[in-house]
Amino acid sequence: MSSDEKMAISLIHLGCPKNLIDTEKILGNLAVAENYIISQMPEDSDIVLINTCGFIEDARKEARKTIKSTLKMKKKGQIKAVIAIGCMVELYKEKLLQEFPDLDGVIGFSDYKEINEYIQSILQKKQQIFLSQKDFVPSDDLRLRVTARNYAYLRVTEGCSNHCTYCNIPGIRGEMRSKDPSQILQEARTLVEDGVKELVIIGQDTANYGKDLANPCDLYDIVEQLSKLEGLRWMRIMYMHPAHFTERFFALFSLPKVLPYLEMPIQHINTRILRLMGRGNTSKEYLHGLLTKLRNTIPGLILRSTVMVGFPGETEEEFQELLHFLQEFRLERLGAFCYSSEPGTASYQNEDLPYAIKKERYEKVMQLQQKIAFEWAKNMVGKELEIVVEECVEENLWQCRSYGEAPEIDPCIYLQGKKLKSGTFHRVKIVQNENYDLIAKKI
Ligand code: SF4
Repeated sequence: MSSDEKMAISLIHLGCPKNLIDTEKILGNLAVAENYIISQMPEDSDIVLINTCGFIEDARKEARKTIKSTLKMKKKGQIKAVIAIGCMVELYKEKLLQEFPDLDGVIGFSDYKEINEYIQSILQKKQQIFLSQKDFVPSDDLRLRVTARNYAYLRVTEGCSNHCTYCNIPGIRGEMRSKDPSQILQEARTLVEDGVKELVIIGQDTANYGKDLANPCDLYDIVEQLSKLEGLRWMRIMYMHPAHFTERFFALFSLPKVLPYLEMPIQHINTRILRLMGRGNTSKEYLHGLLTKLRNTIPGLILRSTVMVGFPGETEEEFQELLHFLQEFRLERLGAFCYSSEPGTASYQNEDLPYAIKKERYEKVMQLQQKIAFEWAKNMVGKELEIVVEECVEENLWQCRSYGEAPEIDPCIYLQGKKLKSGTFHRVKIVQNENYDLIAKKI
């Protein structure tokens, strides 16, 4: 096929890092299909794919808004076809096509090996729905990476078997399937050969990795093997469910290359609410004990967590308990969500709190956390760190990260310099803080 006959295709990505790997896989599969020229600009494309997130109502609103604005471009004749893909399609397949009759087709969450065939079929016959079984173990080897070259997400599991009562991920992505260690090592090797210096290990619950394999193993086993990869410099572990954090995992942070950074979503601190949320064996005492031990045994640990406010039945007292805990524990990084009542989840039938209460509680958490984060940043002034340079944001000003900043979700470190290069590591001194961000000088 000559390049004249190829169609320009672009993909609008929405959602979390787990969905970002899917975006990279879709692009990777399209790149080898040779029917397309991959474009970064939807307005210059014949076909626009939208990889949607369906996790909570806010994410679905964003997806609807994106579909609507892309269809407007189609109406103006700028685009020939618009196709929605991914998590939201799993939840709203037919409804999406009814709501947006100009949508050419929808493709549910899958391993995306057949994405080209699905797209070609949709181009022949409009309004088709493609769905697949949710029992596949994903292979993430064919990726067109869209992140900075120096880091990449490495998925160790797909799906989730925790069934927290508010979460529809197990319904969307299926029960947890672990990748075989040999597959993970091969994917990691390919990424390192492609210039990756930092692997960000992800999965819906990385602490559960390996339990379902024919030869069961755990996260420590695979991270230990990964830590021997030559050329790799940093490893960062995300999304460890606190209920599945075993004694053995404390030793993860003594392995070479593993950064003293941990993302562990706790969701709440009140034992009654944790039970209602279905958060395994976690309780106030358990979480307090685990987080304290993590702080006391891992020098310089940066802890990131997520909390949810306004779960059905959460009293003001229970919310204050959460706020008090956050004030006392001073997590370096925190994300907060308002509870969102999701059809198909166990907590859906429970009476939702008024939106104003949820919003007020959310604001209180965010205000408190802002104060903690600003103080933390101020305390960083004078400290010396190793940073990786990521991108030039204006003339001679570079956006960087240290071990304390996970890509995309955490604040940045800014460094001034003329001859810096993306992906290089430097020793710096923090000389100033600007709210959440830090300003550094080379030493
Ligand atoms: S651990 Fe709970 S919140 Fe996280 S994806 Fe699994 S079911 Fe959802």
